[in-house]
Amino acid sequence: MVDLKGQYNKIKETVDAQIQSVLDTTSYINGPLVKEFQKNLENYLGVKHVIPCANGTDALQIAMMGLGLQPGDEVITADFTFAATVEVIALLNLTPVLVDVNPDDFNINIDAIKKAITPKTKAIVPVHLFGQCANMEAIMELAKAHNLFVIEDNAQGIGANYTYKDGTKAKSGTIGHVASTSFFPSKNLGCYGDGGAIFTNDDNLAHTIRGIVNHGMYERYHHDVVGVNSRLDSIQAAVLNTKLPLLDTYNKARRNAAKKYNDAFKNETKITTPKTINGCAGICETCDCHVFHQYTLKVTNVDRDALVQHLNANNIPCGVYYPIPLHSQKAYKDARYNEADFPVTNQLIKEVISLPMHTELEDDQIKFITETVKEFINR
Ligand SMILES: *Cc1c(COP(=O)(O)O)cnc(C)c1O
Repeated sequence: MVDLKGQYNKIKETVDAQIQSVLDTTSYINGPLVKEFQKNLENYLGVKHVIPCANGTDALQIAMMGLGLQPGDEVITADFTFAATVEVIALLNLTPVLVDVNPDDFNINIDAIKKAITPKTKAIVPVHLFGQCANMEAIMELAKAHNLFVIEDNAQGIGANYTYKDGTKAKSGTIGHVASTSFFPSKNLGCYGDGGAIFTNDDNLAHTIRGIVNHGMYERYHHDVVGVNSRLDSIQAAVLNTKLPLLDTYNKARRNAAKKYNDAFKNETKITTPKTINGCAGICETCDCHVFHQYTLKVTNVDRDALVQHLNANNIPCGVYYPIPLHSQKAYKDARYNEADFPVTNQLIKEVISLPMHTELEDDQIKFITETVKEFINR
């Protein structure tokens, strides 16, 4: 699904030297490179505060802790996402409220959010699924009207632009009250281990969060709040400092691959290629509205699972993200959920298939993949 080796080989000299510099200084934790990366990412995103941490799941949890959410508070999020999002809500004894998504962009559905808001609702967690922003303008309006926090789960969307109705743009993860991201190796900005970060424009919240990630300490050995230990290490910061200047190029390579996939499938009636929102016709060349963390098709009148097997038999990796709705997972079942409230997710889990998507895809690979898919669905 990804080609981390191919990408590494192209930056080996620089990244090896950066990693070696950490080994030479032995400044493994909270070294100068972590601070440097923090500043570089703040500049790239145009956000006031980046707080690096150990992984994207921690980032979400710490964001929620920073906002002071209390046990029993209801937090609305998407039914169709990776489990980390709902996991941290449950871990903090908050009440997850899963809602349905859109059939075209796979992101959280605004009417479903409206329906789920109660007097206990305290926050909404939109996930920028597969690399495209949720409808942030509508979400921020709802949040304002109901006095809710918005926490963007930006693990899959780093580098994507969100375009407001008036045409202005903002980077994903800089629109809500706070956002989280992941630097897991296969994410769009991946390090060589675990890593994550929290973003916010709120000075007070940033201060609170900087203490939480460091055992609740604001002054050495004074523990004012219950915190956690969640750090980005200097070796990962060295890798990220090398890769951040390449992020836009990487995302462009993904978009180019997506465009080639789209072109190859354009006459296939059984295939729906990913839709880009924000007024973009097809795959836009300039506005960076989709960074294709995944390239996800919907197939209809096709045995999706047999297609997966056929691709695997031809040594083509593929993935089903996600095969089970969160509301049906043992850990997150809740008597309040009604199947009739999840028509889209319940359908998507049967139809979606994600093809290899990364920065190193060659034309002949795309051709082999698309030909193999087409040959199977037209049997
Ligand atoms: C990857 C991911 C996470 C978790 O990130 P980790 O760094 O693996 O903890 C959270 N949410 C979403 C949507 C993700 O894709």
